[in-house]
Amino acid sequence: MSRPYRKRRIELPPSIKNFKPCGIPRKDLQSISLSIDEYEAIRLADYKGLEHSEAAEQMEISRPTFSRLIEKSRNKIAQAIIDGKELIVEGGNVEFRNTVKRCKECGDEEIIPNNTSINNCNECGSRNVEDSASKFINNKI
Ligand SMILES: [Zn+2]
Repeated sequence: MSRPYRKRRIELPPSIKNFKPCGIPRKDLQSISLSIDEYEAIRLADYKGLEHSEAAEQMEISRPTFSRLIEKSRNKIAQAIIDGKELIVEGGNVEFRNTVKRCKECGDEEIIPNNTSINNCNECGSRNVEDSASKFINNKI
């Protein structure tokens, strides 16, 4: 019997989804997908400098799984840099702990637990508020 495949925990949605090399027309570009859990592995180990065991704990996966994940992530980022590919952060079996609520009127940003209902902007009261997790929700999992 196979173990149930648990969602990997991600602290916050990535702020940027697409990275594109300069000076290459889009029609000539190949792209590569970096899944959101691969992105999180890079953020925890290489950006924040966490040990693999600590990073694995944060994502609620085993240390060997984390080590495989980060190797895959680094290889994809290397391909994007060396071969000049567009890098798209998308997909993965993930769940965000928090999200960023961003007001499209005044630009105010607030980090809130994910799945909290988003109403009005705290600063200006506008209802034109966007949830940064939403741009990743329609990805195929
Ligand atoms: Zn506002």
